[in-house]
Amino acid sequence: MSENNPRALVAWQGIAVEVPTDWSLASISGDEKSGYYRVSSPGTAAIEVRWSEASEKVDLGAKLDTYLKDLDRKSRKQKLDFQSKVREKDGDLRFMWRADRKAEGRLFRCPECKRAVIVQVSGVPGDPVSAVSSFVLPSVRDHAEGGWRTWAMYDLQADVPPGYKLEKHKLMAGYLQLQFRRGANQLIIERWGLANIALKKATLAEWFRERMRTDLTGFTYKVEELTDEPEPAVQAIGRRSGILGVYRTIGDLTKLRVPAMRLDTYAWACEESNKIYSAQSMHTAKERILDDVIARVECH
Ligand SMILES: [Zn+2]
Ligand SMILES: [Zn+2]
Repeated sequence: MSENNPRALVAWQGIAVEVPTDWSLASISGDEKSGYYRVSSPGTAAIEVRWSEASEKVDLGAKLDTYLKDLDRKSRKQKLDFQSKVREKDGDLRFMWRADRKAEGRLFRCPECKRAVIVQVSGVPGDPVSAVSSFVLPSVRDHAEGGWRTWAMYDLQADVPPGYKLEKHKLMAGYLQLQFRRGANQLIIERWGLANIALKKATLAEWFRERMRTDLTGFTYKVEELTDEPEPAVQAIGRRSGILGVYRTIGDLTKLRVPAMRLDTYAWACEESNKIYSAQSMHTAKERILDDVIARVECH
């Protein structure tokens, strides 16, 4: 693999890594505090990322030692020779090991996120583990500017404001959805594939209206086509209505949590990537995040 090969970003729970473009996110588990994801090559190589909350006092050396000893024990059980090496680089720990597979990795703690992160590139003998890890390991970052967290997979890359936690996600070939919540506020980022087919018989506004119809019962809103946007775009601005509006009044009176009354949605068709992107915020009067979120979604 040469330095010139194109790279893609994969990020989950804010932990981002640059990967070769033909590798893809294959497995995810856990949450913000502790979790794991794996990015697989078309062949036998993989990048694995694992994170967990860690206090200042965490002994990274001991953590790595436990990890390597465990691998050693498993290898011995299978009558495999196991070798490993650890060194320090710029305050992080770098390691490599070799058994039936070989791996190179990095372990560090971020004082801002208070998480320990271990990243490992592995493969069978013959896989370009060293070449890949030479750019993958230095590329790892675990928070974006101002405490925003990056989420990136397939053709979607977005940053989410501090405090928004992932509630639900759907990762399908033609449809990606990330749903976040902070208190009463909800943020949904979506991406649909095959925009040219979706928009063959409908305008973006028509398609969008149809999409929103079932999701947004309980809201009164208006869908508008926007001119002067870099790509064809629509927006919907609205409010909760009907019985939920009444609930809000009760909520105000009894000082319950005020539900998110306002709706802001922005969607655009990206010709270059042949995808439709949307970001939707259901929010209280104080919370205005949509413009900043949209500005950070990368479509092509
Ligand atoms: Zn961090
Ligand atoms: Zn675009």
